[in-house]
Amino acid sequence: MTDFEQQEIDALKAADDFTSLGQKIHQLMRLPQSHCKQRGNCCRVATFKGTLSYSELVALAESDDEDATNAREFLTLFEPYQSVEAVQEVAPLFVERVFEAVEQPEKVTFFKCRFVAEDGRCQIHEDRPTGCRVYPFPHAKTIYHPGCGFEQKGTENWNKIQDISQFFEKRFQELNSEVETLENNKTPQNSDQ
Ligand code: SF4
Repeated sequence: MTDFEQQEIDALKAADDFTSLGQKIHQLMRLPQSHCKQRGNCCRVATFKGTLSYSELVALAESDDEDATNAREFLTLFEPYQSVEAVQEVAPLFVERVFEAVEQPEKVTFFKCRFVAEDGRCQIHEDRPTGCRVYPFPHAKTIYHPGCGFEQKGTENWNKIQDISQFFEKRFQELNSEVETLENNKTPQNSDQ
C-alpha cells in the first residue's frame, strides 16, 4: 500500500509531468522543522559529508569546488573534537553509526558547534545561519543521531527522491532511443527538407 505522496508521484510519472516531478524533488529536500525534537545532538556532534577529516574540510573550503561555500560556513560554526574518546562520551551510538557507514573510520573528524549550550540550546537561535534552519537534508550520506525526529521522514523522502531520479534516467534513455530511431528512419528526401 503506497502513501498519498507516493500515489501523487506515481500519477506525475504516468503523466510524464517532468516539471512537477522536479518541483516534487525540491519539496522533498526540505524536511518539516516540526520534526526536530530540539535535543541539540546534531549541534553537539556532527560530521561533514560523513567522512571528511579536518584537513580535508579546510582544503575543500579553500578550493573552488561547488561545496566550498558550505564547507566555509560549517567551519565558521564548528570546531573539531580533539579525540574520538571525547565524542564517545557525548554520543557513543552516533559514533557507532558513523563508523559503520564509512569505509575509513580512522579518517573521520567529529565537530561541535561553538554556539551550542550545555543543555543543547542554540545560543544564537534567532540569528542562526540558513544551513541550520533547513538542516538536515535527505541524502544517502546523511547520518542521523539515534532518536532524531527527522530520521524516518528523511529516509522516506530520500527513497522518493531516488525513485523520481531513476524514473528521469529511464525516461531520458527511452526518449533518446526514440529520437535515434526517428533519425535512423529519416529518408534522404525527408532530411533534405
Ligand atoms: S548555530 Fe545553533 S542551530 Fe546551528 S549548529 Fe550551532 S547551535 Fe546548532
